[in-house]
Amino acid sequence: MRYSRMLIPTLKEVPADAQVQSHILMLRAGMIRKLAAGIYTYLPLALRSIRKVETIVREELNRSGAQELLMPMVQPSEIWESSGRWNQYGPELLRIKDRKGGEFCLGPTHEEVITHLFSNEIKSYRQLPINLYQIMDKFRDEIRPRFGLMRGREFIMKDAYSFHINKEDALESGYKVMYDAYTRIFTRCGLKFRAVEADTGAIGGNYSHEFQVLASSGEDTILACDACEYSANVEKAESKYEMTGEVEPGSAEVVEVHTPNQRTIDEISAFLKVGPEKLIKTLIYHDDDGKFYAICLRGDEELNELKLKNHLGVNAVYAAEEADILKQTGAPVGFAGPVGMKLPVICDFSVKTVADGVTGANKKDYHFTGVNRGRDFEPIAWADLRCAKDGEGCPRCDGGILHEYKGIEVGQTFYLGKKYSSKMKAVVQDENGKDVAVEMGCYGIGVSRTVASAIEQNHDDKGIIWPLPIAPFAVEILPVMMKDDAVREAGEKLYGELLELGIEVLLDDRTERPGIKFNDADLLGIPIRITIGKKSLKDGNVEFKLRRSQDVELIPLTDIVTKVQDTIAALMAECSGE
Ligand code: ATP
Ligand code: MG
Repeated sequence: MRYSRMLIPTLKEVPADAQVQSHILMLRAGMIRKLAAGIYTYLPLALRSIRKVETIVREELNRSGAQELLMPMVQPSEIWESSGRWNQYGPELLRIKDRKGGEFCLGPTHEEVITHLFSNEIKSYRQLPINLYQIMDKFRDEIRPRFGLMRGREFIMKDAYSFHINKEDALESGYKVMYDAYTRIFTRCGLKFRAVEADTGAIGGNYSHEFQVLASSGEDTILACDACEYSANVEKAESKYEMTGEVEPGSAEVVEVHTPNQRTIDEISAFLKVGPEKLIKTLIYHDDDGKFYAICLRGDEELNELKLKNHLGVNAVYAAEEADILKQTGAPVGFAGPVGMKLPVICDFSVKTVADGVTGANKKDYHFTGVNRGRDFEPIAWADLRCAKDGEGCPRCDGGILHEYKGIEVGQTFYLGKKYSSKMKAVVQDENGKDVAVEMGCYGIGVSRTVASAIEQNHDDKGIIWPLPIAPFAVEILPVMMKDDAVREAGEKLYGELLELGIEVLLDDRTERPGIKFNDADLLGIPIRITIGKKSLKDGNVEFKLRRSQDVELIPLTDIVTKVQDTIAALMAECSGE
């Protein structure tokens, strides 16, 4: 492609509303333009990268036995009613009406459409297993679309759905095969990533993983063990206290102490001169049915609401309002405690590491000291309820330490079980002629987000540094002075030769000043740059440089094609996963 003919509207200034590097750089490199909040046009450069990701995704999914189809974006309300999600989904679902008043939505995901298709077309276990996928635009009316392609409202997703006759097959040949395909996909994209255990909500088990591209700007926090394979989203990461750190209850007397206006852990800790690890903090929560609970943790730990929700097996949990706390505990905020508590008490394992502790006395301006579990209070349950954090021991292995990373979720795999198939009658006859609802899995990859996250992970202050497998072009030829006949002709000749070999090459044939061309080359981030200058050309040489390195090599013009081919092969090998 000739730079002069390609639509690459670069910007010199940093756009005012862009905060993260991928957004800034995609705007500056002329890759995307906003049409409305969270809705973007992909310009030719961006589309080339998007297509590369799509190709890798297709190749690996086809290799894993999945088949591509394409479902409609506009979906009738009936199928969403049959899954129960028409009312459940909330305002992210963009609902529209046609001229006859029929209700539709723009697909944010396609479980309903695929399950509907399955229930009509597939009748026998003999047709299983089957895995169907598509690559298309999704629409989610995100409350806060931001960061460019990172969180759009309209974005490109690959979504796949697997169907198996029983749970073992669904997990072994369905889930695992997709997990492996995802690992190959992100490796081949040239990204540094981690597959982390994710929340499975009501379904339970360890059968959801998020594929997280590691980048300091990521919105997700991951904890990964330095000794074993364990890594999990912090939302779900387990804590080890149930196995270590436990102490015997102490023998001090319970004493009621006056603690006027001392409500927070820090205040009590300072007032009584005891470390927060000697405090038992008590939080009042309720579920969506209005049932209240007192949740206890060690003073220096934080409650993980998702763990609480999963432990209770409810749809949602909420921190109680001030008025409710007074009503339920008899004391204002800051003085709740497990001793004499009327609400059911649930304790995090960390409370087992406290002896002779300090807690609220359920009475305004009073706390108890010398509090011990068993003797002074008994919870209805012990559970892992706290947020795991950087530096703590790995829950899965001995001696490993969890470390914190920031990540961008580019894909998620999910075992669904019969969640949709039983509601939407996706039923097949098994070997005995009996009707059974099928076991499903769903698997998404944010294609447009993957491209943005590649930039988040690979850039410097001058611009993008594309991993070769998803770069818009492999090579940029930069003739310094197009007006110089020898330089121009050498550039054109090399351009022709590389094209002939099927190498994707951008020829900067503009008559711009060299400074501008070099800056744009750094901004666009094409992995291999060949600079043709008058002086070196006289000696029969061109300059060869990788975008990711500072080194410039002089290469004889006669050897440059081989050099390019070898370099491409080497860079691709880095991402082959072998
Ligand atoms: P998030 O937690 O980031 O909102 P999600 O868990 O709701 O994402 P999924 O339903 O798992 O997303 O969708 C599959 C993939 O689609 C995600 O892993 C992500 O890469 C991508 N994706 C989801 N929402 C967006 C969005 N608003 N913009 C761009 N990509 C998205
Ligand atoms: Mg997800």
